[in-house]
Amino acid sequence: MNRINLSNGLIIMFSSLLIFFYLENLVSSGEPDWGDKASALFILFIPLTAFTIFTLGNLSGFLYFLYLIFINHRFIQTYRTYSFLPLLGITLSVGILSALAERKFLLRIKGYKKNLLNLKEKIDSYVQEREEKTRIQSLLTQRFERFSRLKFMAEEFSTTLEISRIIQSAEERIPEIIPRADNFLIYLLETEKGEMESPRITYFRARVKGGLENKELQLDIFDRWILRSYDKLLISDVKKDFRFSKETVEELQREFRSLLASPLIAKGKILGVVRLESSPPGSFTPDDLRMLDLFSDLLAVGVENAYLYQRTEELAKYDGLTGLFLPRYFYTRWEEIVARFSRISLLMLDLDHFKGYNDRYGHIAGDIMLKKIAQLILNNLSGEDFAVRYGGEEFLLVLLGKGKEEAIALAEEIRGKVAQEVFFLRREATHLTVSIGIVTYPYEGKTREELIHKADAWLYLAKAKGRNRIAYAGIK
Ligand code: GH3
Ligand code: MG
Ligand code: MG
Repeated sequence: MNRINLSNGLIIMFSSLLIFFYLENLVSSGEPDWGDKASALFILFIPLTAFTIFTLGNLSGFLYFLYLIFINHRFIQTYRTYSFLPLLGITLSVGILSALAERKFLLRIKGYKKNLLNLKEKIDSYVQEREEKTRIQSLLTQRFERFSRLKFMAEEFSTTLEISRIIQSAEERIPEIIPRADNFLIYLLETEKGEMESPRITYFRARVKGGLENKELQLDIFDRWILRSYDKLLISDVKKDFRFSKETVEELQREFRSLLASPLIAKGKILGVVRLESSPPGSFTPDDLRMLDLFSDLLAVGVENAYLYQRTEELAKYDGLTGLFLPRYFYTRWEEIVARFSRISLLMLDLDHFKGYNDRYGHIAGDIMLKKIAQLILNNLSGEDFAVRYGGEEFLLVLLGKGKEEAIALAEEIRGKVAQEVFFLRREATHLTVSIGIVTYPYEGKTREELIHKADAWLYLAKAKGRNRIAYAGIK
């Protein structure tokens, strides 16, 4: 039996006995005073009843309390008719019962305690769970923000078709998703016949602490690792990474310990490298690497699109057969060249009786002749002068800053060279001649249309006069 248990029972028994002796004493010393009786009840019954209630429960404790009042009242009234022993027996029984009940009570308490411990454990694990959830939630929020920024970038990259603008926006956006970088570099590469060992940097953009030395960017050991492996790179400390030897790391161009880099890959080809550097070690996390991976994928698609656009632009600029410019190129450049040059001469050149060659040797042979003439024209141009395939077998030569005299000389030279050229078609040696009309801006016209119209008119005159000749204003 427990100590508290026993003491409870003993307190109840002892208190009961005290009441009896006290009351007995009162009765034997004469008629008891009501004040004495009340104090006996309150002073002695209250702890007694409290313990009883505590051990036996509310109702039984309360009943015992009433019983004691009744017994004591009777005892005081008819002291002599009641024997002391039965009362003692009852109080003893209540004490023992109380002690036994107390044991049950303690067992219950133990149960509660166990439950309480279980509950505490549950609460602890719940709190832990909540903390974990809050942590994950903040991570998710952070990631969500990064992803929405990536989405924004994807839109920006896909709607921009100029390489420099794409790279510029990449440079501006990268700190939003990976904030801990001191240096940020992007470079676009061109490799010689797929040879990854000797790439040429075609474009680069760098935001480097302290600036770039000599404004030159050179590929280092990490870039070469990326180009070789086609893989991204996360290094928490460049001085301790087992993949790179200490000596090579010491030759680095900039001061940094953490590195995060990824190749820009589109259609299986490396277009460039994105690189982030930070002075302290351990600046970047695997999550940063994942973000850079997504970022570089988006950027690579953007760059590839811009390249495609550039190529399409080139295609739209050049004639497929001769490689000369298409008329649109001349039109779009007109304003600019007029602003830059005080004189511009135009030579409108047309092959003589070309239809006859086509008929005789076939269209493919005709094409070969066209290509050869185009090449001859190109070989005779100088400086920024350019040639346009204006019609089927009609060429426009644009001579910048050159007056009539120079234009006449060049036209005559080309006419002569073409006339001397021998074409071997179907095992036959044949010749071809050209006629050329010449005009000079601004003397014969201010507008593009006017000048072309006049050049055509002079060409027509050259044809009319018998072909294989040049014609211009003032000709006899
Ligand atoms: P002319 O001396 O009056 O110029 O006589 P021409 O026969 O050259 O007449 P024209 O300048 O009208 O030439 C048009 C011919 O040029 C029709 C076509 O057979 C030929 N031609 C035009 N474009 C091409 C082409 O891309 N390839 C080939 N093979 N022939 C072409
Ligand atoms: Mg012709
Ligand atoms: Mg023609």
